[in-house]
Amino acid sequence: MKFAEVSKQYGAVTALDKITLELEEGKITALLGESGAGKSTLLNAAAGLIPFAGTIEGVGKVSYLFQSAKLLPNLTLIQNLRFVLPAKSEANAEEMLARVGLSGREKSYPHELSGGERQRVAIARAFLFPHDTLLMDEPFSSLDLALKKTLVGLVYELWLEKKSTVVFVTHDVREAALLSHRGIVLKKGRVVYDAPIEEPFPRDFFRPQPVESAFVKALTGETEC
Ligand code: ADP
Repeated sequence: MKFAEVSKQYGAVTALDKITLELEEGKITALLGESGAGKSTLLNAAAGLIPFAGTIEGVGKVSYLFQSAKLLPNLTLIQNLRFVLPAKSEANAEEMLARVGLSGREKSYPHELSGGERQRVAIARAFLFPHDTLLMDEPFSSLDLALKKTLVGLVYELWLEKKSTVVFVTHDVREAALLSHRGIVLKKGRVVYDAPIEEPFPRDFFRPQPVESAFVKALTGETEC
């Protein structure tokens, strides 16, 4: 996926300032940055949801995973999953529901689930929807630590099977370091830090990753590239 001179202006606010980046296909890239840095705007531009200046190429079909599950309230869980499948799809929604730990809950409705369970369904749906690029905007932010650990692991396992290109927005350096092949820090719409994360998978949730301190320094303005 290639971003060339991507800029976005909201009135006097420069949300994105000439972002030029090439993201490797089949890898997970974390986008870090304080609130207002332009992370969501970059995802929305990549998804084609907003107009912007510059070009973005190689995104293909997009699946989007948000902080809140955004399930359709009047459909059962299995209906929510089947809803995103093309008519002749061979994909198995029941199997995917089981993969995220919710077998037997096919006929439940979203309101009967906990927040964490709903997010599992959202993860299942994001991976079931046929896509080339998966955009994730703070998908673990509202979860407690234990759930976060489980769902980060789940996303990694599902990604391993599909190897789609993932762009993952987070403000949590640990999440970025656990799940990504590369971390990019945005500040005021610009890239201020960009580094590969070499650590082999699976990474230990409880052990700070070596790259985390570099991210923190970039986030707090102590290093700029
Ligand atoms: P992040 O995701 O890093 O928190 P955003 O991409 O949401 O940052 O926002 C970047 C900047 O653009 C912020 O200053 C924000 O207020 C502004 N912005 C984002 N969306 C809009 C919008 N729809 N209208 C006006 N300003 C916006």
